[in-house]
Amino acid sequence: MIKKKFKPMCIEGNPLTEMAVTNRNQLLPCCYIDHPIHIQNPTIKKLAEASDLSKHSIDEILQSKEWVGLNKSLQEAIESGDTSKVPKPCVYSCSQEQRREEWGK
Ligand code: SF4
Repeated sequence: MIKKKFKPMCIEGNPLTEMAVTNRNQLLPCCYIDHPIHIQNPTIKKLAEASDLSKHSIDEILQSKEWVGLNKSLQEAIESGDTSKVPKPCVYSCSQEQRREEWGK
């Protein structure tokens, strides 16, 4: 089995991804999590609900506990390699097969 490595594109992948605004006027850290299944994940759902641009400024959203918490879990996973506290949609979307990453060098 090929080992997968977690590499969150919103932090390490620049310019592979950018923040996104959904058609529900919610700011998200990327478009990958704006998916009918991913958006039902409890952490991602709360993040999206806290990111309503008609209620909050971009600064307020980026400083909300939902965004700070997600960024913290992503940073910790980069440092430790442990993705157990990372929302599953992020692990799914941003894990690369080790081999493919080596080919991409
Ligand atoms: S799926 Fe998660 S980790 Fe990947 S770019 Fe989007 S928010 Fe970041």
